[in-house]
Amino acid sequence: MAWETDPQSRPDVEDGSSDLKMIPLWSVILSLVVFSGVQVLNFWGRQASMPHRNPVMHVVGSYSWGAALASYVLLIGYISRDVKRRNMSAGIWMLIVLVMPGGIGAIVYFLLRQPMMTRCPSCRTEVASGFHFCPQCRFQMKPVCGQCFRGVHITDVFCVQCGHDLTGDDMPARLRSYSD
Ligand SMILES: [Zn+2]
Ligand SMILES: [Zn+2]
Repeated sequence: MAWETDPQSRPDVEDGSSDLKMIPLWSVILSLVVFSGVQVLNFWGRQASMPHRNPVMHVVGSYSWGAALASYVLLIGYISRDVKRRNMSAGIWMLIVLVMPGGIGAIVYFLLRQPMMTRCPSCRTEVASGFHFCPQCRFQMKPVCGQCFRGVHITDVFCVQCGHDLTGDDMPARLRSYSD
């Protein structure tokens, strides 16, 4: 029985780099502008108001403020794309994230966001990416144990939940989602 799988094409393994591609270019540029803006404003503000303050502390302060604001811009950029692949209302969520102060809106977003949506390869129904079977046509979306039907890894020989011998399962049924 052949268990070799190409690690590049394993759909059950999350690709860690794909999340970085979720940050749009405009938010990267805007975060650099915000960071430089904070440094410039702070420099001028120091000349005007507090010329005798410790300059090292001042640079550290403006650096951390700039970094905090710049990462907030990056976070908003990420959410603006993430919201779309989860079938959530982009307008409402961008408003919540922007209006609620100190990043609270972003925390609320990450607590309440819907699971990612994909399409059933067989009937094109929209299904949450965690589903094991398509609710419309019973197409197998993920490899599952033939006895308890909980998710298994494609390389597992025994089910980690119930100990069922997975090699005894009907291979075409288990791996149907990888055939094309
Ligand atoms: Zn389907
Ligand atoms: Zn099982």
